[in-house]
Amino acid sequence: MKKTISLAALVLASNSALASVNYHIDLSSPEHHSAKITMTLPAGSANPNVMMPGWRTGKYKMLDLANGVREFSVVNSKGKSLDWQHLDKSSWTINNPTKEEITVTYTVYANELGVRTRHIDDSHAYLDATGLFMYDPARREEDISVKLSVPQAWRSYTGMERKGAHHFVADNYDVLVDSPIETGISELFEFKQDGKDYQLVIWGEGNYDAPKMAKDLQQLVSASQNIWQGYPFEKYVFMVHATTDSRGATEHLNSTIIQRKRFTFAPRKEYLSFLKTAAHEFVHTWNVKAYRPEGVAKYDYQKENYTDLLWISEGSTSYFQSQLLLQSKLMTQKEFFEDLAKRIAAHLKKPGRKVQSVAQSSHESWIAMPGDFATNNSVNIYSEGFMASLALDFKLLSDSNLKAGYSELHRELFKQHRLPKPFNAQDVKNIAHQLTGKDYAQWWQKNIDAPLNVDFDLLLAKAGLEFVYPEKSKNIAATGFSSVDRAGLVTLSRVLAHSPAWQAGLNIGDQIVAINGLKVSPSSLKVRLAQYKAGESVKVSLFRRDRLVEKTLLLGQEQDKKPLIKTVKQPTKAQQAFFKAWLGVDFPKAKKK
Ligand SMILES: [Zn+2]
Repeated sequence: MKKTISLAALVLASNSALASVNYHIDLSSPEHHSAKITMTLPAGSANPNVMMPGWRTGKYKMLDLANGVREFSVVNSKGKSLDWQHLDKSSWTINNPTKEEITVTYTVYANELGVRTRHIDDSHAYLDATGLFMYDPARREEDISVKLSVPQAWRSYTGMERKGAHHFVADNYDVLVDSPIETGISELFEFKQDGKDYQLVIWGEGNYDAPKMAKDLQQLVSASQNIWQGYPFEKYVFMVHATTDSRGATEHLNSTIIQRKRFTFAPRKEYLSFLKTAAHEFVHTWNVKAYRPEGVAKYDYQKENYTDLLWISEGSTSYFQSQLLLQSKLMTQKEFFEDLAKRIAAHLKKPGRKVQSVAQSSHESWIAMPGDFATNNSVNIYSEGFMASLALDFKLLSDSNLKAGYSELHRELFKQHRLPKPFNAQDVKNIAHQLTGKDYAQWWQKNIDAPLNVDFDLLLAKAGLEFVYPEKSKNIAATGFSSVDRAGLVTLSRVLAHSPAWQAGLNIGDQIVAINGLKVSPSSLKVRLAQYKAGESVKVSLFRRDRLVEKTLLLGQEQDKKPLIKTVKQPTKAQQAFFKAWLGVDFPKAKKK
């Protein structure tokens, strides 16, 4: 069904002052991807500065969000135009000699969906304040009112307090920044759980089963209480975008935005991936929105904000997402162990795990490089932070005789370090000490400040588990490179450090055209490599800078099947108790033969 908007029937909101700082967002021409924004600041300042943020929360990268701003102008309360100057890329200074109330007007171009800052089209607008709303740093703590003028059929949703159909208020600019607005034509589902109000708002068509999604989210949210025993919100909004090609998600104060390609809500594997994302973002409502490390606690929107602890903010969130899904029965134990096995295998395969610590990775998030270099030289705060969380959880459980684990540590962070009181590494070590009576300085130095050092066989054995290859798995020849099909050529996209390909001098970008003198293509590569055994040498012909080059590749060895996590055959009582204390569910019963 095609949904049309009557632009003639715009809902125009009045703009009388309701708070200290008042915004009006005019979305009367959404098809042009543009908003007209009016910001009224109270009287009192002769030279106010107004700024656009340089990054948006949850994405630790500078984004130059002022680049979409045009038609900037300022008038005072008597309607007199005021002089202004564009000071630097994100700041404007205004000459207001009579110190009267001023109204700043500008337009913002908003046609970017995947970064989740600002997107406006003829069916909706997604407005993250960092991408649209200027602020006066001197008035950042003052209360805010936001009114929208939108096409008649549109409905507006946000985590902010509602004052009208398209009118919202926030205590200050930080709340506004962490309360994105979804307005447009969408589906709405509402539910109540543990006395809290939830909304699920879906924009875009796709293969989702919305009532099931709402039911499953309701099942998920209660499991959070196994960890935190308290909520930092009264209402929460799950915003979902079913898109053409954007995917990703961002956490906010009491809402999240989840984007997926429109036909990736089914089958089960895809739906489970959606649930993992939803659980991840929901965990963030505590871990990073309610308690946050020093350095990122009070955001500086104009520059990079540094901490060594982003691995807790992201990796531990990934760690708890699966536990919540398991405990709420939205994920089976089999799916849980598949996820864990995949993560451990990826960790072990990644050369960067021996180069960078999670503390360094946290600090360097702002300059993180993707691709081949990262695989060989970096870890990331999500996947490696997950591993560090797992290792710390097991240590806490062992040290406390199963009385406290990582959930209890996060419960204490929530109790002792609610914002605006941030936490630092010493605070985390202190809580670990409170819970176990043991000192964590040395462990921290060896696993957090230095590259993580975990024996997964020993670790999993504590919970009666083992990390093994399936019985049917065989040894096959390994190269250590990954490739893509580029114009019909085997083009190397990754060469693992110290692998056979690395030793042979193969490079990312090399185009392999023959193995042992016979032509090879992307479709025949796997079959051709399967002709050789580990330990054999093959001649590889490739183009590099258009010149034909030959290399000798001494093939290594790998397994043809993926490793998995299994329960040990005869678990001890101690292993079963550890398992229960770790995951909050019973050790799986042995299958009767
Ligand atoms: Zn996250």
